[in-house]
Amino acid sequence: MIGQNANKSSRKRAEFVVIGLGRFGTSLARTLVQNGHTVLGVDSDMNLVQRHSHEITQTIQLDSTDEQALKEIDITSFDTVVVAIGTHFEASLLTTVALKSLGVKHVLCKATNERQRDILLKVGADKVVLPEFEAGERLATMIIAPSVVSQMTLCPNVGISELVVPDSLVGRSLEEADLQARYGLSVVAIQRGTNVQTNLKRGIVFRQGDMLVVIGPTDAVHRLSSHV
Ligand code: ATP
Repeated sequence: MIGQNANKSSRKRAEFVVIGLGRFGTSLARTLVQNGHTVLGVDSDMNLVQRHSHEITQTIQLDSTDEQALKEIDITSFDTVVVAIGTHFEASLLTTVALKSLGVKHVLCKATNERQRDILLKVGADKVVLPEFEAGERLATMIIAPSVVSQMTLCPNVGISELVVPDSLVGRSLEEADLQARYGLSVVAIQRGTNVQTNLKRGIVFRQGDMLVVIGPTDAVHRLSSHV
């Protein structure tokens, strides 16, 4: 451990550890902190440790492939550790192995390709994300179906989607629209302004600007969203 840097709120015990303060790791740590969580940010580069010390609860410089250094920060006392190292795959791999062999419960990793993901899962990573692939998929959805605001995949081609009600449904009731029969989609909620209705009553009529939360095939959501 070469150095330590902590901001004023560092007396509060961090809940999560983010190893690797590149663009991805920093964005993750910042978002967790902005949502009221405490994060220990780790990087081998002292400049990055210092640069981000004002926005991350605690930052520390160490080489995460060094098991002894991880023990010194009592890494096993954290339930969730994110390995946000991508390009330096060897470092990501050695860090993941070290974390799992020390007994960290949840190790989440970032990978830059599917082969890296498979290797990280084989050595014990609990979850691996491919941010560039996932961003590409989201951008494709934005192009194919601009009215789909968010999507959560449950299994291939089935998910929960949030979309702006298509013009063709405005003024029609839930029963008239019959999205289950026409698209295989179940409407689970309607957001109207700040009000979210989940217990959908018979006869509810879609209004301009409603946001629908539907569950079902993703390709059907795309067809529905283009049905203006
Ligand atoms: P970005 O998130 O910016 O796209 P990246 O995917 O290119 O980053 P890397 O540059 O490989 O990922 O690593 C991200 C960060 O992890 C860097 O700031 C780097 O200094 C740090 N890092 C790399 N190896 C180690 C290590 N052994 N211990 C601690 N930090 C490390």
